[in-house]
Amino acid sequence: MALTQEKLAAVQQQLAGLPPEEQQKKLQELLTPEEMAELQAKQCPFCGIASGQIPAKTVYEDDMVKAVLDINPANKGHILIFPKQHYQFLFMMPDNEVARIFQVANKLAKVAFEAVGAQGTNIFVANGQVAGQNAPHVLVHVIPRFENDGVGLAWQPKKIEEAEMDEVVKKLTEHPISIGEEAQPAVIEEVKVEKEETEETQRIP
Ligand SMILES: [Zn+2]
Repeated sequence: MALTQEKLAAVQQQLAGLPPEEQQKKLQELLTPEEMAELQAKQCPFCGIASGQIPAKTVYEDDMVKAVLDINPANKGHILIFPKQHYQFLFMMPDNEVARIFQVANKLAKVAFEAVGAQGTNIFVANGQVAGQNAPHVLVHVIPRFENDGVGLAWQPKKIEEAEMDEVVKKLTEHPISIGEEAQPAVIEEVKVEKEETEETQRIP
């Protein structure tokens, strides 16, 4: 059954003014699982691929993650591995899903040597627009590499003074890291909520 414009408008009205976590809960009450999948597919192409609403060339799938060929590959055999749940940034994912996604990436990278004759692989994640993130959903890229393939992931090293390096170490070690964390609430950090209600604050998460 298709999610009609009328139903969507009615649902949006009921969500207005609720905080993000409650919007999510309310949505699940108001929509059937099929309608929910349809809505997510509209908002995020990778949620659409995860639920099967959007077709893709799948190379691996389990209960938590899915891996597909990138339709805009850097090289032949460029794979995208992503969580089936929607997370915008890697740090929002619970540790067990982070573990799974990199286990799958590592295994697929190994297979890529055989499958496309790769001579090397890069595994990387873009967190945020300045880092090159183009999708609203966490993606781990596995890029098979070949000699002189022209894929630009190299940089010129910068000179950072030792005192400044020490300062960075100090700041980084001030925050103790704990392993085994749950998912962080999916708050869209990039959106600044202004005093007046904007389109952005009223949209369905
Ligand atoms: Zn998504």
